[in-house]
Amino acid sequence: MRLAFFGPPGGGKGTQAERVKKDAHAVPVSTGDLLREHVAKKTPLGVKANDFMSRGALVPDDLVNSILKERITQPDAREGFILDGYPRTLGQLESLEALLRELKMPIETWLFIDVPLSSIEERVLNRRVCKQSGHTWNTKTNPSPRGNLCGIDGSELYTRPDDSAEKLKKRFEAYKNDTLPVIESLRKQGRLTEVAAGTGTADQVEAQVRKALHLVKAK
Ligand code: ADP
Repeated sequence: MRLAFFGPPGGGKGTQAERVKKDAHAVPVSTGDLLREHVAKKTPLGVKANDFMSRGALVPDDLVNSILKERITQPDAREGFILDGYPRTLGQLESLEALLRELKMPIETWLFIDVPLSSIEERVLNRRVCKQSGHTWNTKTNPSPRGNLCGIDGSELYTRPDDSAEKLKKRFEAYKNDTLPVIESLRKQGRLTEVAAGTGTADQVEAQVRKALHLVKAK
């Protein structure tokens, strides 16, 4: 399947993409993760992007569009992909639609996972991420059984530099100003599928996402 997940920063898009990827026959493509890889490797793009990311601001469209194109034209994305955190601006939506038209690979479902912003802050402030695999834990709701090490592969956990109260406020602003118009535009065109996730647990949201995508869990 080819899917695009929308939702507020820290709203669990990446978590849900991981949970359904196998049954959806799709690789998760997170522009946030791709950008963080560039930052870690200190590529020229990463150095530029870091300026924006560390402030909680959006990275300019041209940089993000180029890494997205590079990623979804890889062989493993041919069967399907789940976009997580892209498109985040009307400019990115336009660029994506032109690219997918050219590749003849339309998105099947544009899915909005609606989570109230008020329920996100605590979740983000307690998030810890595995340096190696990117797997996420939460010190309150889902602590790693190995403390400061990842319960899956034992690598070190870290706090994303933009997971602070101040940076999160900036990310919410960018979401409201730049991404809600993308969601609204798809909704107006009748192309948006919506899940009211409320304050549901990851399991509950997964069930709603699967239902919306008509995706049955493989045994
Ligand atoms: P979250 O959705 O929790 O904010 P992400 O990992 O998706 O986390 O994004 C982290 C940061 O990476 C964003 O605040 C922004 O600086 C940058 N970023 C990710 N995706 C995009 C995008 N599509 N356009 C612009 N900037 C992006």
